Amino acid sequence: MFNKILIANRGEIALRVIRAAREMGIATVAVHSTADADAMHVRMADESVCIGPPASPQSYLSFPAIISACEITGAEAIHPGYGFLSENAQFVQIVEDHGLTFIGPTAEHIRVMGDKITAKDTMKALGVPCVPGSDGGVATLAEAQALGNEMGYPVIIKATAGGGGRGMKVAETAADMERAFMTARAEGKSNFGNDEVYIEKYLTTPRHIEIQVFGDGKGRAVHLGERDCSLQRRHQKVFEEAPGPAISAEERAAIGKVCADAVAKINYIGAGTIEFLYENGEFYFIEMNTRLQVEHPVTEAIFGVDLVREQIRVASGMDMSFQQDELEINGHSIEVRLNAEKLPDFTPSPGRITQYHAPGGLGVRMDSALYDGYSIPPYYDSLIGKLIVHGRDRAEALARLNRALGELIVDGVDTTIPLFHALLAEKAIHTGDYNIHWLEHWLEQHVE
Ligand code: ADP
Repeated sequence: MFNKILIANRGEIALRVIRAAREMGIATVAVHSTADADAMHVRMADESVCIGPPASPQSYLSFPAIISACEITGAEAIHPGYGFLSENAQFVQIVEDHGLTFIGPTAEHIRVMGDKITAKDTMKALGVPCVPGSDGGVATLAEAQALGNEMGYPVIIKATAGGGGRGMKVAETAADMERAFMTARAEGKSNFGNDEVYIEKYLTTPRHIEIQVFGDGKGRAVHLGERDCSLQRRHQKVFEEAPGPAISAEERAAIGKVCADAVAKINYIGAGTIEFLYENGEFYFIEMNTRLQVEHPVTEAIFGVDLVREQIRVASGMDMSFQQDELEINGHSIEVRLNAEKLPDFTPSPGRITQYHAPGGLGVRMDSALYDGYSIPPYYDSLIGKLIVHGRDRAEALARLNRALGELIVDGVDTTIPLFHALLAEKAIHTGDYNIHWLEHWLEQHVE
């Protein structure tokens, strides 16, 4: 096992990793930009190193700064959290070249899954069901138009290098194709440096269901059920739950096995998420994320496992601490993402926190790096915390969420907390009857 690890991230996820490491008796090194000198992850880690100015490319994304911080402190391994360098194959390669361990999958797995076309081909070959669409990339508008006519509209054009909801455009009709195709390409080029796109059938009323998988890198892998992340705004998740209200035990076991078998076959190591759209009882693969997800705590809640601890274990060469038949679902869990954003436009709202009070009590987990007097810098993601609740069933989890939101105080900046109060008054949230478009429609009517 490692003696010391470095966390190449900030905010709540850096705290999350520090907590797991501390329980394992592993010393921690935080890295931070000059804008984050007073951040909670810096205070909570055993040591910290300033790695550069506020702009991420010069700090949290700087390979030399992070590798040097390992060398200075003697950290043996790097946990990337999510975002930043967590899915950067080149970084993983460089970490390994320096004799350090990357707590995550191999550079090769990141590369394969990071290119959506290659990922889809790989998954298809491993027996995972995919969204019908183009065979690989689509190079010209004429080819895209021909495919659109053949498949039938609507279709979605996706940048193979896309992520975070960017580089995706829907063409509702043939007349719409030119705009969608050109915009998806341009977004792929400008955001990800790659203008290759592919086409998929656009599913009109699916749910977003993702399967948590975990591999030991030695050919063994398990699944930890699904999360339903259908409540999205601009393709970004807002509210996540496990188990999925629309998924039966039989469906879970079947798709879970397909996923676990697929990642076992490629000797996948660590945590991964296989994302699907789910419509009319069918699962359609869209992408695999080769990292810990923001919403991992709902899975931890219902299975009673610490996924970060398991990541660190397998990265150090140990086995996972559980097997498939030991994993049993207990109750229901919901996470809401709290952002420092001003409604109705969701514009970022950085600034000083004048008062912060976290909710507590049975079944409540608050993952946040906020504290009284903390100043949220304007340079990074607007996620300021995640409120996760766990109950014996969905109704209890919803009641607990309502209670916990009532206790939560974040003053000084605008937040998305009022959105969740409003959502909890909606019948569809209580019946679980929603799909990936529900929230956008609701926002149009109620907020925007
Ligand atoms: P990203 O990598 O940007 O997160 P994904 O491929 O995971 O992109 O898709 C994100 C979201 O976009 C999905 O959760 C879903 O809401 C929507 N989406 C993606 N593909 C399709 C599709 N074929 N049909 C309908 N919606 C889709």
